Amino acid sequence: MLLRLLATVVGLLLSTAAHTGTLTLHDANERVPLMGWTEVYVDDTRSQTVQDVNAHRDWFQPSALEAINFGFTEARVWLRFSIRNNLPVTQQRILYLRHFLFDEVVLHTVTDNGIHSQYSGREHLDQHNASPLPTRFFHFQLDIPPNTTRDYYLALTSEDALSSSLTLVSLEQFQRIMIIDAAAVTFYSALILTNLFFAVFMLVKLREVELLYYVGFLVFHHLIAIMMLEGVPASLLGFDNLFWNKTGFIFLINVAITMAVLFSRSFLKLKEKYPVDYLISRGLLVLMLVSCVQSLLLPHVIGSALTTVFCMIVGVGIMVTCVRCAAKHDRVAKLFLLSWTAGVTGATLYGLKLWNILPINGFTNHAWHIGTVVEAILFSFTIADRVTTERRMRLQAQTEQVEQERALRQAQEQLLQVETAAKIELEQQVQERTKDITQIMAKLEFQNQQLTELSINDPLTQVRNRRFFNDAFPELWQEAQREGGWLSIILLDIDHFKAVNDNYGHLTGDQCLVTLAANLRQWVSRPKDIICRYGGEEFIIVLHATDLASATQLAQRLRQAVSEIQIPLEDTTLHITASLGVAATIPQPGANPEQLIAICDHALYQAKSNGRNQVSVAGALQSRSLSSNR
Ligand code: GH3
Ligand code: MG
Ligand code: MG
Repeated sequence: MLLRLLATVVGLLLSTAAHTGTLTLHDANERVPLMGWTEVYVDDTRSQTVQDVNAHRDWFQPSALEAINFGFTEARVWLRFSIRNNLPVTQQRILYLRHFLFDEVVLHTVTDNGIHSQYSGREHLDQHNASPLPTRFFHFQLDIPPNTTRDYYLALTSEDALSSSLTLVSLEQFQRIMIIDAAAVTFYSALILTNLFFAVFMLVKLREVELLYYVGFLVFHHLIAIMMLEGVPASLLGFDNLFWNKTGFIFLINVAITMAVLFSRSFLKLKEKYPVDYLISRGLLVLMLVSCVQSLLLPHVIGSALTTVFCMIVGVGIMVTCVRCAAKHDRVAKLFLLSWTAGVTGATLYGLKLWNILPINGFTNHAWHIGTVVEAILFSFTIADRVTTERRMRLQAQTEQVEQERALRQAQEQLLQVETAAKIELEQQVQERTKDITQIMAKLEFQNQQLTELSINDPLTQVRNRRFFNDAFPELWQEAQREGGWLSIILLDIDHFKAVNDNYGHLTGDQCLVTLAANLRQWVSRPKDIICRYGGEEFIIVLHATDLASATQLAQRLRQAVSEIQIPLEDTTLHITASLGVAATIPQPGANPEQLIAICDHALYQAKSNGRNQVSVAGALQSRSLSSNR
């Protein structure tokens, strides 16, 4: 099937036909490609009249072409042909050209009465075209009487490519051709409009600028330009303006291809993905802008030729970009390449026909249209595919994001759990440490207390030691001085203690000291009073807020208590006695506490001297002098 199609195409491309001489009409229904029966004269200066060319038949050469195909030329081309009617009745025929961008098409008929001219050019359409048929084809009605040979001259000018089929048909055939042609144009328009509606729909839905470019490309190229190429605006819509039919047409083509460049670069995301190709596309864009400007400024012949060159370069440029992107496994670029190639191929085949490189035939005549339709359909698929792909990718990305978020949340929760656990553990540790520290502190305090106790107590007798006395006594003295109260002291010394040691041993002596101290503690129990081991077997008692009489009274009780002490020994009971000195004063500012101790010591000495086991009181006079002797 494909091979057969290819063979048909190749056959169409290569087929040529050349006849010379007079065309004889036989059958009313035959369809004659007339170019093969014509002779050609190219008038480069456009200066010759029909009379001139009729007078110089030798100027004409037989045509080697199957159709009118002179490329872009400013020349006026003259075609000469003869038609003979051998039939018994007048034959009506329609001569038509299948191209719509001629400036002037004039048919001159040589009759016995002279040369009769019919115009079918745009500028003369209204005045001179005698044909009653409302069609956009350039066409003429030929009436050939029976048994007659008619000579015709067809003069053609176009600033566009001078390229068209030239066909002779019957009136009925022509009507049929017009119907088929109208159907084809309608079918083409419908296909393009469908794709255009789809593109507009996508544009409204997605609001992406690239689709706006694509819509522009479709409208300017596929719709307006092709319709102009088909002569639709001129003949059907009455929009017949020489400027727009020529300059406007190529300008539109330039604008359309500019749109295509813009569309391709943003659709393929060149800026984001392919910086080198983006630069190339920028170059193509500059080229197209130049082409747009030149198409408006330069003469049409140059402008349209340059437009063809520029558009081909840019068309191939876009293809190269697509190939480069597609080589990087870009799916969108592959589809774009496919679509674009269809359009470029169609336009190229059509262009090659205009440039007289390919022959004119049914295929080359419609190559541009076919390419355009295929391109539009493929682009619609490409756009739809990209939208679906993007949506799929977006969905995938969303799913991935959701999963990532979930994982992140899980990680956060785990972290929080770990953090909470760590906090709890830390708190426990802190609590334990605090407990330890509290215990240690308590222990330390206890040990400190013990140390303090040890440092201020006498280890043997458990009463205060001399160091404590040395610190405490001046303070009590100061306090009594501040309060103006009495302060008394009693010095107690065991009698003949040396003998106890000597007779019963030191341990017994120690026991005596312990028992004595315990006794003293029973009698001296007020918080501010102090019992101190002052020396070896000598004790001092400080009595707060106690006058001499009370102190003496207590001293007597103590002496009595000591004398009643019994220390049981193995074979006997040991008794001891003690001598006591008492002194008291109301401390005066500047008085010396040592003096009070001294007079007390003196009293003790007196008690010893007086026979021991007695209390001796420091005189009241001495006590007063103590306060006044400062
Ligand atoms: P006096 O009546 O004059 O006081 O006679 P005395 O023997 O008690 O004489 P003095 O006070 O000078 O003697 C103190 C003696 O006390 C000397 C020492 O052997 C004894 N002594 C001192 N400290 C201790 C002690 O801690 N334990 C024992 N067992 N004896 C001690
Ligand atoms: Mg002593
Ligand atoms: Mg003694």
